[in-house]
Amino acid sequence: MRHLVTDVLILGAGGAGLFAALHAKAADPALSVCVAVKGLLGKCGCTRMVQGGYNAALAVGDSLERHFQDTIAGGAWLADQDLAWALVEGAVARVRELENELGCFFDRNPDGTLHQKAFAGQTFDRTVHKGDLTGIEIMNRLAEQVWARDIARLEEHRAVELIRSATGDAIAGALLIDVRSGDFVLVRARSVLLATGGGPTMYRYHTPSGDKSCDGMAMALRASLPLRDMEMVQFHPTGLLAGPDTRMTGTVLEEGLRGAGGHLLNGAHERFMQHYDERAERATRDVVSRAIATEIRAGRASPAGGVYLRMRHLGADAVRRQFKGMVERCADCGFDLAEGDVEVVPTAHYMMGGVVFAADCTTELPGLFAAGEDTGGVHGANRLGGNGVANSTVFGGIAGDAIAAWLRNRPALAEPDARAIAAAVAAHEAPFAQPPGDLEALRLRLHACMWDDVGILRTATGLTRALATLRDLDAALDATGVADGDHAFNLTWHDWLNLKSLVAVSTAITHAALARDDSRGAHFREDHPASGALDASTFTVVRQRDGAIETMHAPVRFTRLAPPA
Ligand SMILES: Cc1cc2nc3c(=O)[nH]c(=O)nc-3n(C[C@H](O)[C@H](O)[C@H](O)COP(=O)(O)OP(=O)(O)OC[C@H]3O[C@@H](n4cnc5c(N)ncnc54)[C@H](O)[C@@H]3O)c2cc1C
Repeated sequence: MRHLVTDVLILGAGGAGLFAALHAKAADPALSVCVAVKGLLGKCGCTRMVQGGYNAALAVGDSLERHFQDTIAGGAWLADQDLAWALVEGAVARVRELENELGCFFDRNPDGTLHQKAFAGQTFDRTVHKGDLTGIEIMNRLAEQVWARDIARLEEHRAVELIRSATGDAIAGALLIDVRSGDFVLVRARSVLLATGGGPTMYRYHTPSGDKSCDGMAMALRASLPLRDMEMVQFHPTGLLAGPDTRMTGTVLEEGLRGAGGHLLNGAHERFMQHYDERAERATRDVVSRAIATEIRAGRASPAGGVYLRMRHLGADAVRRQFKGMVERCADCGFDLAEGDVEVVPTAHYMMGGVVFAADCTTELPGLFAAGEDTGGVHGANRLGGNGVANSTVFGGIAGDAIAAWLRNRPALAEPDARAIAAAVAAHEAPFAQPPGDLEALRLRLHACMWDDVGILRTATGLTRALATLRDLDAALDATGVADGDHAFNLTWHDWLNLKSLVAVSTAITHAALARDDSRGAHFREDHPASGALDASTFTVVRQRDGAIETMHAPVRFTRLAPPA
């Protein structure tokens, strides 16, 4: 096995990973920094897919307190307030850094100030953007800066296990697979950052990039680290519904369409949102997604099983002008957004839950840091649009600074746990020893289970059924091999590994959803529809020990704002 050594190992190259690399190197240029990424650096992950933009309280009349209040209320009072404050405070500095140090160009007003647009759930227009391709601007500039520095890159290297020290009380590195050769690589590191970016791709309809399979969270579970708020999966109400044979199905039709006055119609071509919320189509993502799910379940679905989005009453030319990208995306799939009705369905978009971490990105395991969508606690029960890329870039930068500071007083490399390495290699090689089977059938079963029983509307009966299905699926996966013994660029093997991560994290989501017997933000229990007392709020924590999930509740600390009575 190839062995590499570095001071800082960063797993993932989205907004969190790349900001961490730049900050660690800037804080201490003598540090060796290595970024390992499943895909190509700058080209993969969800930060590149950011359309709408980035929330920062920059404008005259806005304030950190206001952004903070919106974030806490939007998250149904479940967020960790210290983390949320670090987010809103850091976002201002990070946008300035993106523009003035990294070279991003965001859209501006005629007077030269940054243009900031309206997003749902916010009391001020604070979303900084570059048209509707904000993520590409951020990722291109970040990648260029990383390429220009002495930062090692392991592209198409998939992390598969966090490796503790032989003594068990610190991180010693990570085990990777070089996707190109299929060989295992051990990277010994004095510190490791988990920044692989979550991504709820276990649902039938989902938005994240194809490289995302919750690997980081699955590794954290296997390392017995605590994860919080795992039941909080955000569904975006308007995913394109273009049939099962295209990856376009599930991709987002942006929120601005409803914001501009777009209508949602059920299968009978009748508007329905006014029956669910006085804000009608402009209600928040969780409310609209639940309303759509209810219409579908009541038998009022469109032919492909969703509802319709209609814009034509706003004037076809105006729609073509204002939503060029969306009109083209729909046309690619045979829909006319400007003049016709487009079939849409709620789509799994973001995970508010993740690894428990502190505002300096430390975790329970000394030397292991976490940032971005792999972490939990910043958003509580619901993420505001525009707070996702802020989360990854703000905490990525903090992690880079904190790692450099932490390493100043720390000893050399820890000796890795050799038995753990051998066990991890054996576990990840296991599918080569099994007869090949139908992985696609297993994926479809997983999608159906999570969509039907752990989706937008949940009950104890459905969640309990899902746990049994997930156990069966995990056993079926263990008995299913990959056909080709060649490890090099064996995508079937990586599909198997993706599914293994997704089943593990789905199980954690389901346990947390069963444990939360109230309804908050993205989590709705039909058998417990009330939200419960806000001032007695608790959040769920799951931890895996000896292969089984333990679930706990911990009280939310209202360190800055008290909830309304
Ligand atoms: C379609 C879409 C639109 C969005 N629009 C917005 C928006 O307008 N505003 C907003 O605030 N948020 C938006 N978001 C959310 C936002 O993209 C995320 O919150 C944020 O970018 C996550 O950043 P990250 O660095 O944590 O993860 P990512 O950017 O996803 O990066 C994760 C990285 O880890 C790598 N990786 C994964 N697994 C492994 C592994 N096993 N080993 C090594 N590397 C691995 C990936 O390849 C990738 O490089 C959107 C998301 C989507 C999907």
